[in-house]
Amino acid sequence: APRYGPKMTALDIKHHLTDELIMAYSAGALPEAVNLIVATHISLCDECRAAVEAYDAIGGNVLDMAETVAVSDDCLSGALDLIRTSAWSAPAPEPVKRDPILPEPLLDYVGGSLEDVNWKPLGMGVKHALLPTSSDATARLLYIPAGTAMPDHGHRGLELTLVLKGAFEDADGYFARGDIEIAQEDLHHTPIADISEDCICLAVTDAPLRFK
Ligand code: ZN
Ligand code: ZN
Repeated sequence: APRYGPKMTALDIKHHLTDELIMAYSAGALPEAVNLIVATHISLCDECRAAVEAYDAIGGNVLDMAETVAVSDDCLSGALDLIRTSAWSAPAPEPVKRDPILPEPLLDYVGGSLEDVNWKPLGMGVKHALLPTSSDATARLLYIPAGTAMPDHGHRGLELTLVLKGAFEDADGYFARGDIEIAQEDLHHTPIADISEDCICLAVTDAPLRFK
């Protein structure tokens, strides 16, 4: 059975997560906003999803090798009973929300669909909307009209930008849906949205941007 709906096609993703991010995600060690953008990329990218599963398996093996603790004889059957009962008593899952642009991990943060986003203007038609995450890193949606440049800016920390719709280009390359740009500290860049359509990105920073 196809994994995606009839209108979705597999993406040709060229810009991926780093091993460091994948490892930290698998270990559950990322700030909420970074976790969100990693989860969103993984929902679009088979390659990085496989890498996460590999790290998860390594983590599981480490747990298996850890010192064993004596448990009562009925521990396993008790656990299985618990799983069975909770499965039986679990409420019916809510119908899956769908939005052609927003991958599943983003839906709850955005409020269901792009029409629910409360955009704030940044000038030149560029808009953004902060997403509710813990304050150790910031997640926002960015809307850049076709052919428009983002204001030139630098970063004090890490900036991750994942394309959801359209595409942008900067000195690091061309980024389309599913591609993630990982911009390190002190990179100065001016992403320009592709002329063909408006660009929507998820952007995460772990320190404020510095606009010129
Ligand atoms: Zn990837
Ligand atoms: Zn940037």
